[in-house]
Amino acid sequence: MARIVMKFGGTSVADVERIRQAARHVKREVDAGNEVAVVVSAMSGKTNELVGWVNSASRLHDAREYDAVVASGEQVTAGLMAIVLSDMGIPSRSFAGWQVPIHTDDAHGAARITGIEPEALTSRMAEGIVPVVTGFQGVSPSGRITTLGRGGSDTSAVAVAAAVGADRCDIYTDVDGVYTTDPRIVPKAQRLNRIAFEEMLEMASLGAKVLMIRSVELAMAHKVRLVVRSTFDDPDAPQIAPDGTPGIPGTLVCDEEEIMEKQIVSGVTLAKSEAKITLRDVKDKPGVAAAIFGTLADQSIVVDMIVQNISDDGATTDITFTVPESEYDKAVATLEGAGDRIEYAKLSGSKGGAKISVVGVGMRSHAGVASSMFKALADKGINIQLITTSEIKTSVLIDEQYAELAVRALHTYYGLDKQ
Ligand code: ADP
Ligand code: ASP
Ligand code: MG
Repeated sequence: MARIVMKFGGTSVADVERIRQAARHVKREVDAGNEVAVVVSAMSGKTNELVGWVNSASRLHDAREYDAVVASGEQVTAGLMAIVLSDMGIPSRSFAGWQVPIHTDDAHGAARITGIEPEALTSRMAEGIVPVVTGFQGVSPSGRITTLGRGGSDTSAVAVAAAVGADRCDIYTDVDGVYTTDPRIVPKAQRLNRIAFEEMLEMASLGAKVLMIRSVELAMAHKVRLVVRSTFDDPDAPQIAPDGTPGIPGTLVCDEEEIMEKQIVSGVTLAKSEAKITLRDVKDKPGVAAAIFGTLADQSIVVDMIVQNISDDGATTDITFTVPESEYDKAVATLEGAGDRIEYAKLSGSKGGAKISVVGVGMRSHAGVASSMFKALADKGINIQLITTSEIKTSVLIDEQYAELAVRALHTYYGLDKQ
């Protein structure tokens, strides 16, 4: 017997029929003698609709009320799932975040889980009752509903899995695993049987939305075995692992040591809507970068790639960095309004950038990945605007109109295309 947390994303609970299909996956695990807790997202499209309502009510709304509204989608699906499960003869009870409780900080709209009291869930599971927990939400120290940021139900699921000491956390979604790149962009993308936590972390932070970054961080920290698998698989078919033996279908996210054949490049990611800002002739002295990025951080503007040039004359230098396109106007206004705290000769910038990255733990021990990436892009005539690297990834900023072309070219170049 195993203890399993099963998370169903938006497409998996898009309507009552789909909820019934998801419930059959739950039934299979319960019938096999496992203890199960379920975490659900809102029906697909619902959260967008709720966000739209909030924005049309008022652009400058209170973040606490935003959370009160947008968290409601998950409450609907949790209740429906509990009803459907009970109907199938599986005793079940729904839990909103505050009922578990799932404690978070008070950063409304992007709250972090600070702790989960597992007793309500574990005691139900021990009684043979399947608790169905709302994803995406928790409760703040002052008792208000919070949400975890878009895609947050993955994080709820992993946090619940860690809290109840689950043997596994299965993420049911509309693809049958983690692919070498977004299969919607590259139909030749291949499913990975296994991916290392570190690689998944990079892929998630670089634009692969199949798992929310924070969920991967939590799984890595708490050693939760995480599986990404398809909700569309026949719930009653024999369970076959990727190697063809009986087991769990999908992609296992696991420790690097559990992966025999390490690829140099495991995946290619794409993040669009990046904007670039350059400050020319910034004073080349201690504290300047701190002043620039401190001022932006004070406005909660998230900066991504940063490049600073070597100073030519020892007096001034240029700094270029990227921010999400949606933050561009605010970032420019913040820097222009900073007065003599930040001295520079000229500010320039542009929207419409895309960040393309190649990721793989094998890069640690292989030289030349960056240069081959630049060559592959050059062969397609794609100009590189910015470059950043880490131990297991190389990212470039390019013009957004070449984004898909670049992803496909790199995918082919690194031999990732399905034969
Ligand atoms: P859910 O609603 O179940 O949480 P999401 O839409 O958040 O599902 O995530 C699944 C989607 O992630 C897929 O439909 C796919 O288009 C996208 N995706 C992006 N990159 C990848 C990747 N490398 N592997 C698999 N899916 C990916
Ligand atoms: N419903 C939320 C969203 O759409 C959370 C999730 O689906 O993970 O962002
Ligand atoms: Mg998601």
